[in-house]
Amino acid sequence: AKGRGRGATVVFSEAFAARQERQAILVQALKGAVSNGELSVVFQPIVDAVRREPECYEVLLRWNNPVLGRISPEEFIPMAEEAGLIVELGAFAMEAALRRFAQWGGQGAGCRIALNASIRQLIAPGYVETLRAAAARHGIPPSAIVVEVTETIFADTYLDLTHRVLRQLQDLGIDIHIDDFGTGFSSLSRLHEMPVQAIKIDQSFVRRMDPQAVAIIEGSVSIAEKFGIATVAEGVETEAQADLLRAMRVTYLQGYLFGRPEIVPGKLAAPPSEPGRSA
Ligand code: C2E
Ligand code: CA
Ligand code: CA
Ligand code: CA
Repeated sequence: AKGRGRGATVVFSEAFAARQERQAILVQALKGAVSNGELSVVFQPIVDAVRREPECYEVLLRWNNPVLGRISPEEFIPMAEEAGLIVELGAFAMEAALRRFAQWGGQGAGCRIALNASIRQLIAPGYVETLRAAAARHGIPPSAIVVEVTETIFADTYLDLTHRVLRQLQDLGIDIHIDDFGTGFSSLSRLHEMPVQAIKIDQSFVRRMDPQAVAIIEGSVSIAEKFGIATVAEGVETEAQADLLRAMRVTYLQGYLFGRPEIVPGKLAAPPSEPGRSA
């Protein structure tokens, strides 16, 4: 047992060193990603659970580096947060997405656009004003915009500031949705204090769909209904999942069953093609 323990430590530290090295390379590359045109945005539909028509498109960032290839946002977003690059990336996503959305006339088609914002973006000076100005410039009414924030905004550190920013967004007519609901440690009393219009049930529960996951989904729907807000289930891949979620009265569904993240949302008119860019 002693020998095995030492071996495991060596393997662990080698893996750790390799991870550190990859991180350093990625962070270096990420610093130039916006100016080198390596980032793009894709859109994934969120449909009404009953009518199955898109009501909103979520904006997701993509990074394609000529040397490193495609890197998942699961990897580069947390890295951008740590390296202080998330505000720049977020500003790029906001501007690129609103411009495209306006080109397609998404708001005219009765659709909304959902932007992800991490806590750092949200509390960075000028976030609300930048979003307001960009929307106005592209002729998109604030009521057609949703901001998705994760439960971590309920952490104590910036609670007053966060609350103020969310209030400002809401005063403009922008809706707030809580992303990855059920995965963090948010207190329900905080949910009640915050101006929130929907909760997004994390895809891990949709995928599992075992009795515990069903209990969490049903509990989330019940809380949302009592608060008078909507629910969105993400990661819906099968008809069976969609049926169960609709039966549980989830308001909106999102997942590969209804559409993958794409440069051109299927339902809207094709934008002018962008040479050299792909999902
Ligand atoms: P998220 O906001 O929870 O986004 C949902 C993720 O689930 C996306 O992964 C989406 O492509 C994926 N997904 C959607 N439907 C399905 C499905 O049916 N099956 C499966 N297996 N996956 C599905 P993606 O695009 O890799 O993004 C990962 C995360 O990166 C996002 O999670 C979000 O937290 C973050 N992210 C992406 N773009 C942005 C951005 O512009 N700003 C910020 N702050 N974060 C972003
Ligand atoms: Ca999201
Ligand atoms: Ca999510
Ligand atoms: Ca997620």
